[in-house]
Amino acid sequence: MSDTRSSSALSVLMVASEAQPYAKTGGLADVTGALPGALARLGHTVTLVMPRYRGVGAVGRPGRRLAVTMGGRVFDVGLVEVAHGPRERVVLVECDELYDREGLYGAGGQDHPDNAIRFGVLSRAALDYAVGLDSPPSIVHAHDWQTGLVPVLLRTRYSADPVWRRIPSLFTIHNLAYQGVFPAETLKALDLNSALLSIDGLEFWNQVSFLKGGINFADAVTTVSMAYAREILTPEYGEGLEGLLVHRRHLLTGILNGIDTDVWDPQTDQYLPVPFSVSDLEGKRSAKREVLTRYGLPDDAAAMARPVIGMVSRMVDQKGLDLIWEARGALAAMDAAFVILGTGERRYEEMWRDLAAVHPTRIGVRIGFDERLAHVIEGGADLFLMPSRFEPCGLNQMYSMRYGTVPVVRATGGLADTVRPFDPETGTGTGFTFHEYRASAMLSAIETALAVYARPASWRTLQQTGMRQDFSWDASAAAYVHEYRTVIGRRREAGGEREDWSYA
Ligand code: ADP
Repeated sequence: MSDTRSSSALSVLMVASEAQPYAKTGGLADVTGALPGALARLGHTVTLVMPRYRGVGAVGRPGRRLAVTMGGRVFDVGLVEVAHGPRERVVLVECDELYDREGLYGAGGQDHPDNAIRFGVLSRAALDYAVGLDSPPSIVHAHDWQTGLVPVLLRTRYSADPVWRRIPSLFTIHNLAYQGVFPAETLKALDLNSALLSIDGLEFWNQVSFLKGGINFADAVTTVSMAYAREILTPEYGEGLEGLLVHRRHLLTGILNGIDTDVWDPQTDQYLPVPFSVSDLEGKRSAKREVLTRYGLPDDAAAMARPVIGMVSRMVDQKGLDLIWEARGALAAMDAAFVILGTGERRYEEMWRDLAAVHPTRIGVRIGFDERLAHVIEGGADLFLMPSRFEPCGLNQMYSMRYGTVPVVRATGGLADTVRPFDPETGTGTGFTFHEYRASAMLSAIETALAVYARPASWRTLQQTGMRQDFSWDASAAAYVHEYRTVIGRRREAGGEREDWSYA
């Protein structure tokens, strides 16, 4: 094997449940869509394995077929390889009985009941696929609970193989709140040894946690911002896993996500009516008019002068929507318009629909997932609101800054790491932040922002400072490579020995 400390090229096997451009429910897909390309640009080879969900059109060429046996069932799996460049490919795992259905993880507000099997098969298929390749990967990189079994399988089912027992895994937590917890019997259905139902295995309150498996069995764990890496060691953010994370903290680091600066570029964005840039913001007015028109809000001179506050968000507790509800009266009384795009929990969708019905000229709401409209909002809004209770990284605040849309955020996780508060004394900073999770704190941050909006020169400086920030993947990809090399070195020093498990 090559010297892990040198600049030798690595071969990374990545496993994820969603990735752009094939399937997306949130920021994970943005990351897994962009990180492989950024690693490839640094000279590394990346294969990303993910399910072929319904709606992924005719792409790639059929490769091998695998029979994945699990819990007495045999899953006939097809592998469709799609080249994304000389050093990057995606392997879509085709298994219609598991993946050809509505919704990636569930439908009609219900999780698919067989998610443990669906993502167990994905994890097995990814490793079986790689075992069949001419040369093994340097490292396996798994993302979120859906692929939490990948590190577990490496140290159990695949550990008898002298080559594979030396291959380390990195597990990235994009959101600790989603853990993949299933009844204890699930272990059997996954063909995993029942002894794994223990405190240093996958057991979580007498159930099986995929996320815990990933954290416990990976050689290192990363999460998507430095602040979130610190926060999850506390009961407030640790989602019940803070004890384990404190125990494993020597293996835990934060690496901030980048953004895809080709997809999110106001100079080339096909979804904007007129492109714009840091030196020529004129096109932003057209985007503002476009967004008001799309939402059926007034676009006369008074409306164009008034700030437009945008939100593009999954409508779930995490995103701070209870603060919005609490502050609804004060928000509606502000001299501002709101444009909202999102989907999620019914009560929040209804909350927004009700607010729009009461304030039809000020609040525009679109329930659904609409990539194109998300771009128009990023381009056309003046401010972007993210009052998150927690936010592992958050991407929208970075898209916003790139589009001259000033973020107002709660200073948590990646929001705290990426948005520098505006300082009226020096005119520095990129947005507005608040700390306490309270409606009054959010309102006062928005009011401060509106006061600065009323001073065009200061506002312009704020927009331009944000637009000049570098949120590209280059730095983050280099940080992952550094982490990969550290982990490879660490596993090699351990002689590929299993540290604490011996289940084949
Ligand atoms: P999370 O992963 O928690 O949803 P992030 O801010 O990390 O939050 O990423 C959200 C991503 O999903 C962004 O790219 C955002 O634009 C996109 N997104 C979320 N909801 C929608 C929606 N309803 N329509 C279009 N894009 C959406």
